[in-house]
Amino acid sequence: MEKQFPVGMEPLGKDTFSFRCHEQIDCFTRCCKQVEMILYPYDILRLKNNLGVTSAEFLAEYVQIVQGDNPYFPTLMMRLTEDEQCPFLAETGCRVYTDRPSACRMYPLERAVDRNPDRGNAQDYYFIKIHDYCMGHGERVKQGVDGWIRAQGLLRYNYMNSLWAEVDTVFLQNPWRGEGAGGDNQKFAFMVCFDIDMFKRYIAEYKLIQSFRMSKDEKRRLQDDEEEILKFGFELLKFLYGGNSRLLKK
Ligand code: SF4
Ligand code: SF4
Repeated sequence: MEKQFPVGMEPLGKDTFSFRCHEQIDCFTRCCKQVEMILYPYDILRLKNNLGVTSAEFLAEYVQIVQGDNPYFPTLMMRLTEDEQCPFLAETGCRVYTDRPSACRMYPLERAVDRNPDRGNAQDYYFIKIHDYCMGHGERVKQGVDGWIRAQGLLRYNYMNSLWAEVDTVFLQNPWRGEGAGGDNQKFAFMVCFDIDMFKRYIAEYKLIQSFRMSKDEKRRLQDDEEEILKFGFELLKFLYGGNSRLLKK
């Protein structure tokens, strides 16, 4: 059956869109001010490594915890400076550009994932989003969705964010064993998702890797590859809290 979308929201599909963002445009960095930006686990991993700080230091300095769409799990937002701009905005532009968050990469697109298509895997849809102040839409350069995703380095981000969305869906079921929000189980899940340096210490202390069946190669990657550790964390959370996990206990 053909997917239906709300009136006024048509996915781009193979259609192109006009857009170009560059340093000479009058609105350059306007979008980095008064911005409301959700940060996902992979965003935090990339940003804290770019800055050379620990995940705990990053959370303390740059993150605000709010109640978002999921009533059973906190949402993390970028904490703006006193003059309401992104803390990574420098005079010359973005100082974390190579590791900028998903939202900065995605604009002017918005991604929606259909998790229950009639057949096959989850399906991505992209919509155009327009901010009145953004002059990039008036540039005469045509972009296609696939090219934009590749050019913005979004393939890896989309992949990791899709894994995170599966975990967030588990959290939507209030899986905290009667503790409610803020209990030990939710705190543990928060640590796994957002404080990877502490999670690494936890893995070592509780010999977690030895507790599950995995190949030598998987074990080796879990020694020092933080992306693999985050993926392992997502699988662990699904294993513990009722998702469809690939982990098998020994
Ligand atoms: S063109 Fe749009 S995205 Fe680029 S700097 Fe201006 S406001 Fe930001
Ligand atoms: S991370 Fe960079 S691109 Fe994104 S809002 Fe901050 S300064 Fe702008």
